[in-house]
Amino acid sequence: MKIVIIGAGLGGLATALSLGRAGFEDVTVIERASELRPLGVGINLLPHAVRELTELGLAEQVAAIAAAPGRLAYFNRHGQPVWSEPRGLDAGYQWPQLSVHRGEFQLLLVEAVRERFGADAIGLGWRATGVEHGVEVSDATRASGGIRRQERVRFADAAGDELVLDADVVVAADGIHSAIRAQANPGEGAPPWNRLLLWRGTAVVPTYLDGRTMIMAGDAEQKFVAYPLAAGATGEAAPEGFTRVNFIAERRAPEGVDETADWNHAVDPAPIVELFADWRFDWLDVPGVIAAADEILEYPMVDRDPLERWIFGRTTLLGDAAHALYPNGSNGASQAILDARTLAFHLAGAAAAGGAGDDTDDADDGSAIDAALAAYEADRRPATTKLSGMTRQLGPERVMQLAYERAPQGFADVHDVIPEAELQQIADSYKVAAGFHPDRLNERSSLTRAVRA
Ligand SMILES: Cc1cc2nc3c(=O)[nH]c(=O)nc-3n(C[C@H](O)[C@H](O)[C@H](O)COP(=O)(O)OP(=O)(O)OC[C@H]3O[C@@H](n4cnc5c(N)ncnc54)[C@H](O)[C@@H]3O)c2cc1C
Repeated sequence: MKIVIIGAGLGGLATALSLGRAGFEDVTVIERASELRPLGVGINLLPHAVRELTELGLAEQVAAIAAAPGRLAYFNRHGQPVWSEPRGLDAGYQWPQLSVHRGEFQLLLVEAVRERFGADAIGLGWRATGVEHGVEVSDATRASGGIRRQERVRFADAAGDELVLDADVVVAADGIHSAIRAQANPGEGAPPWNRLLLWRGTAVVPTYLDGRTMIMAGDAEQKFVAYPLAAGATGEAAPEGFTRVNFIAERRAPEGVDETADWNHAVDPAPIVELFADWRFDWLDVPGVIAAADEILEYPMVDRDPLERWIFGRTTLLGDAAHALYPNGSNGASQAILDARTLAFHLAGAAAAGGAGDDTDDADDGSAIDAALAAYEADRRPATTKLSGMTRQLGPERVMQLAYERAPQGFADVHDVIPEAELQQIADSYKVAAGFHPDRLNERSSLTRAVRA
């Protein structure tokens, strides 16, 4: 089976590695960027994603560039504790939670793909422009000398040259602005914006709390998130008593900022420091962290409306192209990795059943592929649709908004305003929906399945 993956982001690369693990050999990744550089800031890989990376054989390499938070703690905008829970191994998972620099993690996956499939496995500098479904090509290898139905992807480079690739399956992992999603949903337009602005950066700051805690403070209008990062290629080791952190400061946009603004650019920290001027807690100096940033990048908080279908012909959407989520819950990359592993699981099942194996030149064994793609969508689309709805309602961060609504000026003890059981229920229900409740994750069967036993 020949598989073309559009996009060498986290989802596309995880798909290539998952297919490689399953035993598929004819896998090509094509990426729009002409060079892959370690772009981005920190992201969290939750234990369900780390399990999949572990089963792909990458546990040690990823851990070597990661920090492993042992606790997640929520506070109100006065710095008072709302909810706190252990994370990763400290919470009884068999796998840690890992905070990584997105760009370093992406390059690690790039290396792993090249090692598995060869140096040319990732084609750079080609932008997918569209897919034709079910193109009939003659196939001399078939007993009847018959016809084989293929997906045909067209790419363009900066010079205007065209590349055309035929494949049995196409995976569109081309991100939140996916060209393939747009082709299938021509009226959809730009991702909807909820008018929150995000400022993201890294800074070396005095170690706070126990040095292993991811914190979130604030509410739905204004929020601050910080978590430790390892000192990797993108930053020098922090001196004794200091920690390199990734942070996200968030605030509703003032009137006048519109959706056509120029995003993802570096901004002056001073006005953002000012917005958080009175967030000086005895355990963390928030304006001090923002002021210490190496660089601050501005983003709109956008996502995508859930779709009614992800599969068009034998092309499927995956990752942000299928279900971009708000960052509440820190789950976007983890969900893309789950998509990748689930897709490979079902395609391997089809191949193992003799329907679409890597060595079958013979069949337009499309029905097995169609069934595998349908099974992937059935596993992943309803789950991510539900998660999208929860994420739009703040996901696990709803505890901070409840604390604000019930006690805007703060409280002596959070349990005076939110019962422990309600806090626990919010935390648990999100974990179940996202697929990382510890009991369920530790017990669920593996998504590793081979083309051949
Ligand atoms: C503020 C913020 C914080 C976040 N924090 C977290 C977090 O803590 N944990 C978490 O799990 N997730 C987080 N995420 C989400 C996470 O970054 C994404 O969900 C994840 O990167 C999705 O991977 P992807 O491969 O689907 O898309 P991307 O990583 O966007 O990759 C898409 C790739 O496709 C390429 N491409 C685009 N168009 C084309 C084309 N036409 N042809 C060829 N190639 C193309 C792009 O260049 C890119 O390389 C956060 C997101 C934001 C905005």
